[in-house]
Amino acid sequence: MRAIEVAQHGGPDVLTPVDVPDPVAGPGDVLVRTDAIGVNFIDTYFRTGLYGTALPYVPGSEGTGTVVAVGEDVVDLTVGQRVAWADAPGSYAELVRVPARVAVPVPDGVPAPQAASALLQGMTAHYLVESTYAAQPGDTILVHAGAGGVGLLLTQLAVARGVRVITTVSSDEKEELSRGAGAAEVLRYGDDLPEQVRALTGGDGVAAVYDGVGAATFEASLASLRIRGTLALFGAASGPVPPFDLQRLNPAGSLFVTRPTLAHHVRTRDELLWRAGDVFTALAGGALHVRVGATYPLDEAARAHSDLAGRRTTGSIVLLP
Ligand code: NDP
Repeated sequence: MRAIEVAQHGGPDVLTPVDVPDPVAGPGDVLVRTDAIGVNFIDTYFRTGLYGTALPYVPGSEGTGTVVAVGEDVVDLTVGQRVAWADAPGSYAELVRVPARVAVPVPDGVPAPQAASALLQGMTAHYLVESTYAAQPGDTILVHAGAGGVGLLLTQLAVARGVRVITTVSSDEKEELSRGAGAAEVLRYGDDLPEQVRALTGGDGVAAVYDGVGAATFEASLASLRIRGTLALFGAASGPVPPFDLQRLNPAGSLFVTRPTLAHHVRTRDELLWRAGDVFTALAGGALHVRVGATYPLDEAARAHSDLAGRRTTGSIVLLP
């Protein structure tokens, strides 16, 4: 089968198309022929070596496709069924061995590119507004990278809860997309960001900042919070945040800072199906829109990573095998 392999850490060019033997479904697995493969920012962290992994490896963790074989001990999935997943290592491939416990049935009517990119970013947006800081009607929140994959979904979920959303973006095109997702105010990154946020919140600051940008925005995020506000630092698109003196949280307003990750919010099959079900039900019913900003042939994974890291993408992006 065709797959992408990384033999050494580095830039997008280390993503190499290769022919490798077909995987087989072991006990507890299903083998899936992919229809579309999700590309996520975390894939770039593994590629550069920011996050550790053994070499060589096939990148990716998310996708959708049709079950072509079922391993021993799998009772609730059958050959021919459409499934999607957010946690199967080696997903940049034509065939993926997916642990049945992470496979989620795809509702009829959800196209493959959307199904391939809804779960990882959608369940992240879900846990951030449901569980990390459960945004309340009347709250104002700040979401960085408002036109990105997580950003567009997080904005829609928050607005649906009656929350007022302020976002940051880097261009006019991204501003338009962010407003389309429901952002009430769209700002540019900059030194005066906290002052702008305070001006929009009667001087108080926001109840929560959802920050997937990291190094470049962390200080502005802290300075934009209201007293007892929450900073959910969930990514590092601009680089990791340096070590931080916790004492600073005291005079800044008894602030909360957390660094959550999806794996800890889908720990049981029930929790996974709850979050995935909310995302897919909203998607299938039209209440949630997943923007697939670009598709790339599987062999051109390097171009997808280059565009994602270069801030040239909007919404989600997928590979097509
Ligand atoms: P995005 O589609 O949001 O792409 C990243 C965006 O970040 C860019 O489009 C860009 O938007 C913005 N950005 C700001 N500064 C930079 C920079 N220096 N380099 C690159 N991008 C920059 O990606 P995803 O939706 O896949 O992921 C968003 C964040 O969420 C990532 O940090 C990712 O790691 C994190 N994440 C965390 C999870 C968790 O559970 N903790 C799970 C899923 C994702 P603009 O040009 O408008 O600034």
